[in-house]
Amino acid sequence: MNEQKIKLINQRISESAAKSGRPAEDITLVAVTKTVPPEEIARAVASGVRDIGENKVQEAMKKFDAMGESLKGVKKHYIGHLQTNKAKKAVEIFDVIQSLDSIPLAEEIQKHAAGIGKIQDCLVEVKVSDEEAKYGLAPEGLGEFVEKAARFGNIRLAGLMTMAPFFEDPEKTRPYFKRAREAFEKIKAGNGGFRFLSMGMSNDFTVAIEEGANMVRIGTAIFG
Ligand SMILES: *Cc1c(COP(=O)(O)O)cnc(C)c1O
Repeated sequence: MNEQKIKLINQRISESAAKSGRPAEDITLVAVTKTVPPEEIARAVASGVRDIGENKVQEAMKKFDAMGESLKGVKKHYIGHLQTNKAKKAVEIFDVIQSLDSIPLAEEIQKHAAGIGKIQDCLVEVKVSDEEAKYGLAPEGLGEFVEKAARFGNIRLAGLMTMAPFFEDPEKTRPYFKRAREAFEKIKAGNGGFRFLSMGMSNDFTVAIEEGANMVRIGTAIFG
């Protein structure tokens, strides 16, 4: 029953927010609906979910089409790695692209957003671990990247997204989240539009919030 699970998650979000001296309303819950069928997404929305995250453009498109009006007012986040050849579709169907990680991708997003007269919200993906398999920019390169990407008139840089490596013990993710927070604060100081620090998943979101996340992306703890 995901209504109960969502309640519980919101409670844990509140507690972690309190630990870091913030109200629960400061934290946005993105329910990650990848692999979740439309009927179940609709139930989550009925239970108060206002943001959803998908990681495949094609699959998301089918689901959004199928769901039509039942997604009214729901913010759609793209959280997967985005290939430049999928940027057009992504710009058409997502409110936020959380995985901006290269200038060629920014150029594609710019082109297609301009084509439909949209300002596309994007988060810059930063890679705080040295795992081979993860995408994102190194924290050291962020300043320069943001400076370049800020020149694209149809892209609004709205914050940072990151992932910590998986650990059984979520405490071990803390240093990675700290690193992302530091990078976030640095850029935020010179960029008023920088608002979201998207980090924390089912296993580690409480630690991420304690370390400053104001957006968490949670899948299995809600739908699993
Ligand atoms: C799948 C996914 C999540 C959610 O992970 P869970 O462990 O199921 O909560 C969050 N962020 C990204 C980028 C993902 O791909």
